[in-house]
Amino acid sequence: MSDSYDVIVIGGGPGGYIAAIRAAQNGLKTGCIDKWVNHDGSTAFGGTCLNAGCIPSKAMLESSEWYERSGHEFGDMGIKISKVELDLATMQKRRAAIVKQFTGGVAQLLKANGVTAYEGAATLEKGNKVTVEGHDGKKQTLSAKNIILAAGSVPVELKPLPFDGKDIVDSWDALEFDSVPKRLGVIGAGVIGLEMGSVWRRLGSEVTILEALDEFLPMADAQVAKEAQKQFKRQGLDIRMGTKVTGAKKGKSGITLTYETAKGKETLEVDKVLVAVGRRPYAEGLLGKDTGVKLDQRGFVEVDEECFTGVEGVYAIGDLVRGPMLAHKASEEGVMVADLIAGKVAEVNYEAVPSIIYTAPEVAWVGKSEQALKKEGVPIKTGSFPFAANGRAKALNMAVGMVKMIAHKNTDEILGVHIVGPFASELIAEAVLAMEYRASAEDIQRTIHAHPTLSEALHEASLSVDNRALNTVNRR
Ligand code: FAD
Ligand code: AMP
Repeated sequence: MSDSYDVIVIGGGPGGYIAAIRAAQNGLKTGCIDKWVNHDGSTAFGGTCLNAGCIPSKAMLESSEWYERSGHEFGDMGIKISKVELDLATMQKRRAAIVKQFTGGVAQLLKANGVTAYEGAATLEKGNKVTVEGHDGKKQTLSAKNIILAAGSVPVELKPLPFDGKDIVDSWDALEFDSVPKRLGVIGAGVIGLEMGSVWRRLGSEVTILEALDEFLPMADAQVAKEAQKQFKRQGLDIRMGTKVTGAKKGKSGITLTYETAKGKETLEVDKVLVAVGRRPYAEGLLGKDTGVKLDQRGFVEVDEECFTGVEGVYAIGDLVRGPMLAHKASEEGVMVADLIAGKVAEVNYEAVPSIIYTAPEVAWVGKSEQALKKEGVPIKTGSFPFAANGRAKALNMAVGMVKMIAHKNTDEILGVHIVGPFASELIAEAVLAMEYRASAEDIQRTIHAHPTLSEALHEASLSVDNRALNTVNRR
């Protein structure tokens, strides 16, 4: 096979592998290069998402939720279990097996679509060339008319708390603990901190989450964030806001974390620390000399709305560029770029990218929050419906939280939907579709929702926008 391609993709995560598949589907000769090495030394396509992020975290969230529910809730539902026991080794084996199945699937998909896969570290060179250093140290140079950079992101390290892979760890290590830490300190109450904190609390850890900001989940709608915080507190997650961690000291009885609050310096002793203070774009070794590709101040590759870097034939997508660090956003950008290269019309609707936190209850939203719209001075009307009044949620024993809908006061167009409650991650899809089609609250009002389903809560929230909800008392 010749070493010149129509498209070379650097990175095999949900941005890169999807871009490669779509490029091949478009009849373009495509190569995809990835350098991922797992903790056991094996290599795999799939990037952070499949190996160390979305997929393994959801496997652990699901297992730990069933464990907790079987211990605490099954009795209420009339199911007697004499003893619920944790078998962490099997739980971890299940996680690893799911990851292996999906990463193997990516390799098969690349092959089936005729994409040539390379394992090794790639560097973009001037003049649309790419050098690849295989895991065996062998180097080769490839050339391509188009190159898509999809190198992803890595966890941010706190300087006073360097990762050691054992006691002070990142989210990947925290997914693979082989015993339940007695006391787990989590730094950062963002999506990853809350999800991983939930996993280990359910499995028996005493979890304390330390968050520098005073406001809980500032990117979410404030009403939804408040409800989520209340539920997490009720579950026993000790979330301390306004606490900035500044140091850690290892001693015989554990790790002493030092943090600053409005009251002054305080300390907390824990057995393990998960540092979940965000992720940063990863461009180490990615760019050779004089490529012309620019990084911004925070290390993101600079691109326009179409993910074009400004250098002929060079694009960048996913966590490596501006926008939310989400797998589906990376994939959508991959599809867009592969279609644009093939001369097709393509775009990403950044207004309709859903965000989800897979805690229990789950938190999911699309569009803008009430506080953001008010700040912009947009005239709005809002409606909400509590899951406590939803029959299916009751049957599931999960009747907490609500659906909130925000529409433009004059045009009725839906501007945001915010959910905290059961299967919010699935329910949000209807709202995303509605926003993609620029639907009005009335469009949802006139759509028949099956009974009894959780989706009826979204229907009722749309009715509540006009004070016409049928299964709850309206405000006026
Ligand atoms: P990545 O998935 O990071 O892939 C980049 C790939 O490029 C890697 O395989 C890397 O090895 C390779 N690479 C880098 N440099 C080079 C090079 N020079 N040569 C060759 N290969 C290279 N998002 C969601 O949407 N939903 C979730 O539920 C979710 N859960 C998450 C849970 C955790 C714990 C974490 C850490 C993240 C989670 N995310 C989730 C975020 C999601 O994983 C990322 O947004 C997504 O993986 C970004 O995709 P990407 O393709 O841009 O980059
Ligand atoms: P996210 O970027 O959503 O993963 O969230 C990371 C969170 O970590 C943010 O809410 C930050 O405010 C928080 N954070 C960052 N540095 C610190 C620190 N030193 N101590 C406590 N929280 C922090």
